[in-house]
Amino acid sequence: MKLQCEVEVISRHLPALGLRNRGKGVRAVLSLCQQTSRSQPSARAFLLISTLKDKRGTRYEVNAIEFVMGRTSMYALSPVEFIILQLLFIQANSSSLKGFLSAVRLAHRGCKVDIPVSTLTPVKTSEFENFKTKMVITSKKDYPLSKNFPYSLEHLQTSYCGLVRVDMRMLCLKNLRKLDLSHNHIKKLPATIGDLIHLQELNLNDNHLESFSVALCQSTLQKSLRTLDLSKNKIKALPVQFCQLQELTNLKLDDNELIQFPCKIGQLVNLRFLSAARNKLPFLPSEFRNLSLEYLDLFGNTFEQPKILPVIKLQAPLTLLESSARTILYNRIPYGSHIIPFHLCQDLDTAKTCVCGRFCLNSFIQGTTTMNLHSVAHTVVLVDNMGGTEAPIVSYFCSLGCYVNSSDMLK
Ligand SMILES: [Zn+2]
Repeated sequence: MKLQCEVEVISRHLPALGLRNRGKGVRAVLSLCQQTSRSQPSARAFLLISTLKDKRGTRYEVNAIEFVMGRTSMYALSPVEFIILQLLFIQANSSSLKGFLSAVRLAHRGCKVDIPVSTLTPVKTSEFENFKTKMVITSKKDYPLSKNFPYSLEHLQTSYCGLVRVDMRMLCLKNLRKLDLSHNHIKKLPATIGDLIHLQELNLNDNHLESFSVALCQSTLQKSLRTLDLSKNKIKALPVQFCQLQELTNLKLDDNELIQFPCKIGQLVNLRFLSAARNKLPFLPSEFRNLSLEYLDLFGNTFEQPKILPVIKLQAPLTLLESSARTILYNRIPYGSHIIPFHLCQDLDTAKTCVCGRFCLNSFIQGTTTMNLHSVAHTVVLVDNMGGTEAPIVSYFCSLGCYVNSSDMLK
């Protein structure tokens, strides 16, 4: 049985000698081997650590190994050999590591390992090739059909491969940090992309996507995803939950069919680069003012002229729904579809924020005004060929009082 991994051998004597370990593992193949001899009928198990420099490997008798601690992707063993105490830090694909360690444990207890064990032969160079961390495929003919992707990949690009869906084999690559599927024909993203817990960069430029699902917005991507390129797709709108992707710093939405930004876009506090050129945005949502960007490109949108007259939808008195919704949001009372009907959650999720900071659902005054985009971004690409950097933005007012107080703003 073999395990491809990274191993760091740390001598416990290093600190005593005033030395520090490098903190970096080397690519290695661990083999679990069993040897029987006539004098010793019971099988002796060995752990063999082979590296590119030392293909024959260093042998540790399994019985001399003491288990110290375990974590999902890292494990430490303490082999006692020649009185020197050493620690082995093993980093590998967690499921293969689990399987390998349980086999070692069985061998440690003296059990026979029923998985076929390899004999003590040097590891071949080809076995180290699986440690690739980067793979770039830019044509259909190079796309692997019969072979799996190396598990150790951190950066995978498969462009111009004619993919119509995301290959499930990619979703097993738990170390992926960068996934580039640009220039394909992908229509829909599987929710399981959200299981790639380290994914920081996702490039879907030039595909046939029509949406970005709520499930993805609520996956572990919330904690990892920094760069998302959805340019050249057919997206009309993004869900309100999109703004839960809190780590996003770079978002590209150029050349889509967007008719609106998600209304809570101001919650993307880490966003620095935003481009949504050549879409169909008529105006910006009020929360757009809360962004703090370095770069903004909204060129070639179908921005409308701000309306002179406001839209008045005030209720007097407020309905029970309106006043309870306002109370829930103002007091930040937690809610969810396990407590209240799903449609009410959606209403609360898309509530409008008044300039006074309070919220409103259906009772409000809506006004449009223009905003200079330089107030939210250092570098602004002109919005049209006329050299403008202004765009229409919607404002909401929860009461007549708020509207009157802010009416200067709308002039
Ligand atoms: Zn107000």
